[in-house]
Amino acid sequence: MDLRLDGKRALVTGASSGLGEHFAKVLAEAGASVTLAARRLDKVEANAAALREAGHDAEAAEMDVADAQSVAALFAGRAPFDILINNAGVSGAGAALSMTAEEFAGVIDTNLTGAFAVARAAAAGMREAGGGSIVNIASILGLRVSGHLAAYTASKAGLVQLTKALALEWARYGIRVNALCPGYIETPINAGFFATEAGKALIGRIPQRRLGSQGDLDAPLLLLASDRSAYMTGSVIAVDGGHLVSGL
Ligand code: NAD
Repeated sequence: MDLRLDGKRALVTGASSGLGEHFAKVLAEAGASVTLAARRLDKVEANAAALREAGHDAEAAEMDVADAQSVAALFAGRAPFDILINNAGVSGAGAALSMTAEEFAGVIDTNLTGAFAVARAAAAGMREAGGGSIVNIASILGLRVSGHLAAYTASKAGLVQLTKALALEWARYGIRVNALCPGYIETPINAGFFATEAGKALIGRIPQRRLGSQGDLDAPLLLLASDRSAYMTGSVIAVDGGHLVSGL
């Protein structure tokens, strides 16, 4: 069964690096016309150019999801998107006792309020067009906790609930809203940590005894983005090698 996206217009936030860059490529390879958005325009310009060179349809756009004006500017004058991948996120690691209110708010502003702002802007166009699919990139840390990530875990738990709330409100418009909860996925940024003793110990607690690869997320992402998941909304899908079901 094919998970094709031909003729669909997709927006990926935080598409300058890591998973967002990868997701944009996966959607483009599935036939979607992709807008790669991020704060660093030069980075997304380069990523979009690489996709065009490979024969895909891609454009770059500057957007800070935590800045309402920046979000409005991206949507102004653009045709509605069929697919939104709400991927932009920050981790804000640190002990809760030494975290300032501003640091805490900064994580919530991007991971939760930013995701809401982009979802709402995308949904306005989707409603006019008769529907769409929103995929919120949450985390297994929205479902369980880990040390020194209080703001992050709170933001991702909020994103999981937001997913369900928006699914309920927007089903009448044909807009589906689902969440993908990756476990620990190897990206260039965290490769160093997973080579350390602490990193190896963490991998030892994952039932499959390995990190996820970016490719492990491809089929779940395409399923949620495509019409193949037409009867799925408000769903929360973990892709984590069994990490959430590790024994207590
Ligand atoms: P990353 O840091 O490489 O990517 C995050 C992206 O979001 C970057 O491109 C960054 O520039 C962008 N971003 C941050 N703040 C932004 C803002 N205000 N406006 C626009 N863009 C902004 O990290 P990643 O691992 O690729 O993470 C991508 C998403 O996946 C995040 O939401 C993260 O929480 C989630 N996630 C990652 C993992 C993992 O193991 N890598 C696991 C679970 C969830």
